Amino acid sequence: MPTTQKLRCQVERIVDHGEHVYTVELRPERSAPRFRPGQFLHLALDDYDPSGFWPESRVFSIASTPAQRDLLRISYSVRGRFTARMERELVEGRQVWVKLPYGEFVIEDASDVVLFAGGTGITAFTAFLDGLTPELGSRVRLAHGARTASLLLYREMLERRAADVPSLQRFYFVERPDDESSQIGAVPGRLSVEAIWPHITAPSQVTFYLSGPPAMLKTLAADLRRRGITADAIRIDAWE
Ligand SMILES: Cc1cc2nc3c(=O)[nH]c(=O)nc-3n(C[C@H](O)[C@H](O)[C@H](O)COP(=O)(O)OP(=O)(O)OC[C@H]3O[C@@H](n4cnc5c(N)ncnc54)[C@H](O)[C@@H]3O)c2cc1C
Repeated sequence: MPTTQKLRCQVERIVDHGEHVYTVELRPERSAPRFRPGQFLHLALDDYDPSGFWPESRVFSIASTPAQRDLLRISYSVRGRFTARMERELVEGRQVWVKLPYGEFVIEDASDVVLFAGGTGITAFTAFLDGLTPELGSRVRLAHGARTASLLLYREMLERRAADVPSLQRFYFVERPDDESSQIGAVPGRLSVEAIWPHITAPSQVTFYLSGPPAMLKTLAADLRRRGITADAIRIDAWE
């Protein structure tokens, strides 16, 4: 287990996806420590003095792959005070501090897995998905839900992986359907277990991974439990 490190980073690029959702690329002052797909970092906006306390921070899943440790990518949506500050203050060229890696939400793909991602919750899975190879023996199904089709972040990467990896299947859900969502065959409405249940063969042998806002996780986990999935087969990246 690598020890955590604190690193100053420069904001290299910000992508505004609309509806107060952003992707931020951070260039660390030196190569980031090794991390595993599904782990997260703490991001602080105020300057950190190594002889003092770590400033106020929030945690974000590391969306970029562990193979690239000179550029860290996160995606966030504005929710409360801190993320509103990020929206106001983050500009390209600004410095921030991160500490990483943290977390145990690491996917074990020895058996079949189903991944449920709500909104920016997809970032807990992107490094894992990006690393899939055509030889993958187990099945990976991803269900990603967002408010609009353009907020289905990392869809291009996912489409590329799905073209290469026959055992990867993806399902999209869009709350406010439009032309783009029909073109990609997105299910209108919220992410649901019901809509993908018929595609899951032998659900008792599948591990379910859930990532996203707490209310969504609660609903999906309760639905899985009602369908007979045991608690140890449901792994949750709780955002609280
Ligand atoms: C494992 C994990 C991964 C996450 N990944 C992502 C991600 O990839 N993208 C994303 O958008 N969000 C992610 N989140 C949620 C994110 O960390 C924020 O909690 C969320 O965006 C809330 O918004 P806010 O901080 O602006 O809200 P705020 O209203 O500022 O605070 C929300 C919560 O933070 C805590 N808090 C409040 N004040 C402080 C303080 N001074 N110091 C420390 N904590 C405080 C409290 O529990 C409060 O309820 C993740 C959370 C977890 C736990």
